[in-house]
Amino acid sequence: MTEIGLLALQGDFAEHAAAFQRLGASTREVRKASELDGVDALVIPGGESTTICRLMAAFDLLEPLRRFAADRPIWGTCAGMIVLARRASDLDLPAVEVMDIGVRRNAFGRQLDSFEAAVDIPALGSEPFHAVFIRAPVVDEVGPGVDVLARLPDGRAVAVQQGKLLATAFHPELTDDDRVHRHFLAMARPEAQQGVK
Ligand code: GLN
Repeated sequence: MTEIGLLALQGDFAEHAAAFQRLGASTREVRKASELDGVDALVIPGGESTTICRLMAAFDLLEPLRRFAADRPIWGTCAGMIVLARRASDLDLPAVEVMDIGVRRNAFGRQLDSFEAAVDIPALGSEPFHAVFIRAPVVDEVGPGVDVLARLPDGRAVAVQQGKLLATAFHPELTDDDRVHRHFLAMARPEAQQGVK
C-alpha cells in the first residue's frame, strides 16, 4: 500500500491525511527525519510558511527534506508551495527551496484574502476544480522544467509540477474533489517513479 507522509509541524496536515485515507492510502505524520524512512511521498500542508520554516530548522529537517526531494515526490499546498519554491517574497528564512519557481506570498491582498474560484486543470479532466484560496501565494516565476497545470483567469499560475514535485496555491484537502490527491497518489506509486526525473 502506498504510504504518504504528512509534514506535521503546523498547518492542515490532518485534512490531507483524511483525503488520502478516503482513497485507500496509508498516511504517517512526519516530525523528524527518521520518520521519512519508508514513506513513498510527502505532503507539506498549508499553514504559515514562516512557522513551518522555523520548525523545520529547529527539528533539523531541511537537509533530510532536500535529500527526500531528490528521489521521492513532494506536494506542497499553499504554505507548502512557498516552502518548496527556490524564491519566495518576504521570507527571510531558509526553506526546502527545491522547486524552480518563484512565488509571491499573500499575493491577493486584503480584499481577496480568501476566496474560492473555479479553476481549469486540464491535466485532471475537463470539469473545473473548485479551488479554495486562503491568504494564498501565486507563482510569478517558472523555470524551464516546470509545467503550469492551472492558471487563474487573469493568467497567474496557481498549480505547477516539476517532475516529482507538485505545488498548488489552493487547498484541495478542504474540498471533496479528490482529483489532485489521486494525481499525487499516482505520482507516488513506485512504477510512476521510473523514468521521471
Ligand atoms: N499566507 C501563508 C504564508 O505565507 C500561507 C497560507 C496558507 O497556507 N493557507 O505562509
